[in-house]
Amino acid sequence: MRFSALTLAAQALRGNRGWSPTWRDAEPKRDYDIVVVVGGGHGLATAWYLAREFGLTNVAVLERSVIGSGNVGRNTTIVRSNYLLPGNIPFYERSMKLWEGLEQDINYNAMVSQRGVLNLYHSDAQRDAYARRGNAMRLHGVDAELLDREQVRARLPFFDYANARFPIAGALLQRRGGTVRHDAVAWGYARAASDRGIDIVQNCEVTGIRRENGRVAGVETSRGFIGARTVGLAVAGASSQLAAMAGMRLPLESHVLQAFVSEGVKPLIDHVVTFGAGHFYVSQSDKGGLVFGGDIDGYNSYAQRGNLPVIEDVMESAMALWPAIGRLRVLRHWGGVMDMSMDGSPIIDRTPIDGLYLNAGWCYGGFKATPASGFCFAHLLATGTPHPDAAAFRLDRFAAGRVIDEKGMGAQPNLH
Ligand SMILES: Cc1cc2nc3c(=O)[nH]c(=O)nc-3n(C[C@H](O)[C@H](O)[C@H](O)COP(=O)(O)OP(=O)(O)OC[C@H]3O[C@@H](n4cnc5c(N)ncnc54)[C@H](O)[C@@H]3O)c2cc1C
Repeated sequence: MRFSALTLAAQALRGNRGWSPTWRDAEPKRDYDIVVVVGGGHGLATAWYLAREFGLTNVAVLERSVIGSGNVGRNTTIVRSNYLLPGNIPFYERSMKLWEGLEQDINYNAMVSQRGVLNLYHSDAQRDAYARRGNAMRLHGVDAELLDREQVRARLPFFDYANARFPIAGALLQRRGGTVRHDAVAWGYARAASDRGIDIVQNCEVTGIRRENGRVAGVETSRGFIGARTVGLAVAGASSQLAAMAGMRLPLESHVLQAFVSEGVKPLIDHVVTFGAGHFYVSQSDKGGLVFGGDIDGYNSYAQRGNLPVIEDVMESAMALWPAIGRLRVLRHWGGVMDMSMDGSPIIDRTPIDGLYLNAGWCYGGFKATPASGFCFAHLLATGTPHPDAAAFRLDRFAAGRVIDEKGMGAQPNLH
């Protein structure tokens, strides 16, 4: 269906009863070349790049609920490529470049907004760390600028510069970073993949992984057995549960992360901002609500909701940075289940089981990775070899000691 001002007007006159579904709600076939579990952002992006890059369309995406009900529709929409380590920078920069062309690529308005991401610093040591990060980014061809306090104040006049417990000393700015409308990413990839002939199967829970003669033969689902020689798992917070179905134990823990949206107000901040002296980040949506979040809840859980102590902690961080925020009401908040890896970096790799591939460990930064993750996972599923940009994201790196400790926190998933 074509979307234009004329179609909108015609539909309005007909009571909006003439719209057709954005993608086919497919019935599962008995057999596919490739099955991608599931319909989160990474699974849908994988499906699209399988079709676009490799012409593979005998592919099913199986989702236990509806498209977008997982973290892809629950995140705070921030995209950036301001990483430090060589294993990470090229991958996240590929993602940024794919975001920049995404709307033309899938012909869908995903509201890509490169409004700039500012990481605030509050001490000389933190400034030096950000200078090092910015230099690493620039060496890889990624944009980065170090701002002083007055340059930050000129952009963000509402923060507390006079009397703050942790005075703002400056910021690392990535101008090309920003936000992308998260649901639109899921819907856009789903429509684009479906248009190429890929089956998007909703309400189809994977309940088992069948193996025959030492390799994957397909998946058991709530809608019967579906055969496939290649199965890709991209289930984010449910990764450990799905891996257990194949007899694997992953170096991951599932934790809850919460997000918050305030009542709508006039434009206050043009950028995405992270607070360097506490865990707090904030941006403003096009509807005017402040969208913000902070730490993960400090316990393992598969529940898509969090707890009060972390809510209090996030609000305190908000007040420390921006006291006036206390005059706003929080309209809604929710939680999502994060697949926290031990070093804070992801896994895109084959597993010890022939034909079974894994895409996981996105912690709370996997939304920005969605295009590159789909691109590189599609490469792995189609060719059996890792894409060079994701070659460092190996499953065996924890056993081999080649961790990608981006934050320098060590093997502590609750600190990443
Ligand atoms: C509150 C919050 C804020 C965040 N903010 C950001 C941010 O600003 N920037 C950023 O980069 N990242 C952010 N993230 C992280 C990001 O959202 C995730 O890392 C990313 O979305 C995970 O990948 P996904 O989209 O494929 O996962 P999901 O959308 O969670 O997809 C996983 C899917 O698996 C399905 N599933 C599970 N088990 C089964 C089964 N047995 N059978 C079939 N289907 C199954 C689920 O229903 C779900 O749809 C945030 C996350 C949260 C929760």
